[in-house]
Amino acid sequence: ERELFQQFVTAESVSADGHPVELAGNIGKPEDVENVLANGGDGIGLFRTEFLYMDRQELPTEEEQFVAYKTVLVNMGNKPTVVRTLDIGGDKELPYLTLSHEMNPFLGLRAVRLCLDQQDIFRTQLRALLRASTYGNLKIMFPMIATLDEFRQAKSLLQEEQEKLLAEGIEVARDIEIGMMVEVPSAALIADLFAKEADFLSIGTNDLIQYTLAADRMNEKVSYLYQPFHPAILRLVKMVIDAAHANGKWVGMCGEMAGDEIAVPILLALGLDEFSMSASSILRTRGQISKLSKQEMAQHLERILTFSTSAEVEQYMEKLLNLNN
Ligand code: PEP
Ligand code: MG
Repeated sequence: ERELFQQFVTAESVSADGHPVELAGNIGKPEDVENVLANGGDGIGLFRTEFLYMDRQELPTEEEQFVAYKTVLVNMGNKPTVVRTLDIGGDKELPYLTLSHEMNPFLGLRAVRLCLDQQDIFRTQLRALLRASTYGNLKIMFPMIATLDEFRQAKSLLQEEQEKLLAEGIEVARDIEIGMMVEVPSAALIADLFAKEADFLSIGTNDLIQYTLAADRMNEKVSYLYQPFHPAILRLVKMVIDAAHANGKWVGMCGEMAGDEIAVPILLALGLDEFSMSASSILRTRGQISKLSKQEMAQHLERILTFSTSAEVEQYMEKLLNLNN
């Protein structure tokens, strides 16, 4: 299979009818960049920075983080690189950060909530990112945003750290795009309001599905409810894409759905700009998109959006893609 897709390493990410998209990779460590590039990634759509904080005994210093971010940016050679700020809490714990026990960790003090609560940790990361910003094409996004207020607070802390650095005579890139993940239903529902204040949106379907269907993404007993093609999810994804575009912003997806063979044609038809996935899915997706007509898929999309269940959508797509024969 690998050989079959080799031709797509240097190919453009474009549909059969000439619609261009960006196919990016998700990474957790600077070393992962190599694999994204070897698989022809157009960029990094999600750098899960929490991995820099895990498997160690203390917080990573500003300098350690600076080196990690700089390494990624330099190796990406000016290709767009979206770094997500710390997304800890929920299922991901740190041994040196003693957080109080919570009844519902996934609904608790995690991600941007934790960063706004423990601002010293957040500011250290923001400084490291800003210092690294001159080495490549950095974009920063905040995870788990549920309210406009959180997004504004996170942006203003970033602004404060930027001003401090400039006052210290340290260079910072001027054109850093600041975006957010849309992975909480409240954010998806007011994506139009966020799109006015964010430079881009990135849909995190792993959490968006879990929160929309109220089904723990790790719990096998309710995995039957974890439905990427539930009409509620398709409607939310469409809302977010339309809201971003209505405000002249680009929109990506960095959840597993972005690399799913059945989802890709639907996302293409919806107008998703950037698909970010594990490196190993990039070439298959580029090959798939090269054979799809966005216009044709837009007609199928009209049908798909009338379906009432996830199963109907999946059956329709499987037939269309000639799967299961
Ligand atoms: C998501 O929630 O879709 C996502 C990309 O983030 P993570 O899987 O790290 O929660
Ligand atoms: Mg998430």
